[in-house]
Amino acid sequence: MAYRITLIPGDGSGPDIMAEVKRCIDATDVQIDWETVEAGLEALEKMGSLLPKAVLDSIESNHIALKGPITTPSGTGYRSINVQLRQHFDLFACVRPCKTIKGLEGISQDVDLVVIRENTEDLYAGIEFKDGEESTLELIEMVKKHLGKRIPLDSGISLKPISRTASKRIAQFAFKYAKDNRRKKVTAVTKANIMKFTDGLFSEEAKMVAQNYPSIEFEHLLIDNACLHLVSSPQKYDLLLAPNLYGDIISDLCAAFVGGLGMVPGANLGEKCAIFEAVHGSAPKYKGKNVMNPSALILSGAMMLNYLGEEEAANRLYSAVEAVVREGCYVTRDLNPQSYVGTKEMADRIIHFLKLGGRNEYEK
Ligand code: NAD
Repeated sequence: MAYRITLIPGDGSGPDIMAEVKRCIDATDVQIDWETVEAGLEALEKMGSLLPKAVLDSIESNHIALKGPITTPSGTGYRSINVQLRQHFDLFACVRPCKTIKGLEGISQDVDLVVIRENTEDLYAGIEFKDGEESTLELIEMVKKHLGKRIPLDSGISLKPISRTASKRIAQFAFKYAKDNRRKKVTAVTKANIMKFTDGLFSEEAKMVAQNYPSIEFEHLLIDNACLHLVSSPQKYDLLLAPNLYGDIISDLCAAFVGGLGMVPGANLGEKCAIFEAVHGSAPKYKGKNVMNPSALILSGAMMLNYLGEEEAANRLYSAVEAVVREGCYVTRDLNPQSYVGTKEMADRIIHFLKLGGRNEYEK
């Protein structure tokens, strides 16, 4: 029986990439009945909503989605659709493997690490107070009364909630992931020395969960120090565990080690649902230009196949991407500025290699 999977093409360059990614996944011969629903700027134009109810209904019923990137317009008051989806379906764990594919030696380092990011809380919670509004002034007054701290009256304020429950849940997920995938070290990354009641709490919970996993090394690094060490010796890291905002930033940093944003896939996982998407955004300037690297979203598709238990197909898909990257001449410009092809032509080549077999490179 075919898997029924929600497909969200996204906006900007998202639909261009997704058309190619869908072709590649279909070429694995795994039977998928795609239910395509639109979200983002194109849905806003056509249906008057960035996140139409049909999208939520489809994911609610299928429990699994492959999603293209969606633009979050800055300074418009629109909240991120990506964040809304993660919160709505309680997709608390964001998994982003950064593994160098052979063939990218010139533009990457030899790295194999995974970033696990708490996906529902922190400054991403969307609890914001606009400058000058009555509620903001009340909050400023309350802070003065209870903490004796002065906040300038023309300030905007974003709240950073981090709970023990969510911190423990993501730490448990990360250690179980490390154990299941034979990873040896978990590094929690926070700014616990400054934000004691939020980041401090997160690192405390991670430390407590670590005690249940004596065979896995645990360390805690401050985010600034972690950036320095990551850039100078990324090979020292195995699994990075971080609250929402730092996890997002570190993912982009680590993408640079493995060939750029075009190479890093991702999964947003909850108890009941999963949404797979690349780390990169909608790169609107490349819409319709046939230049985006489809690998990150194809590899997200490979993670999705693995999640479904279709490991052999996931392996073939991963290996096909690897073969094309290693070959080096049917890749997009970000991977080889001297000799490159378009998104569609790279996907054609991946489909060509797809039929030739593969091996398991992905983790569950
Ligand atoms: P971006 O990831 O869209 O692009 C930044 C740059 O990275 C691009 O201009 C391009 O040079 C390069 N790049 C990214 N992906 C690439 C690929 N697959 N192939 C080749 N080059 C690639 O980041 P941005 O410009 O900061 O964000 C654009 C929009 O996307 C924003 O509205 C942002 O909020 C949104 N966004 C969405 C998601 C998501 O849907 N999950 C994630 C990140 C950003």
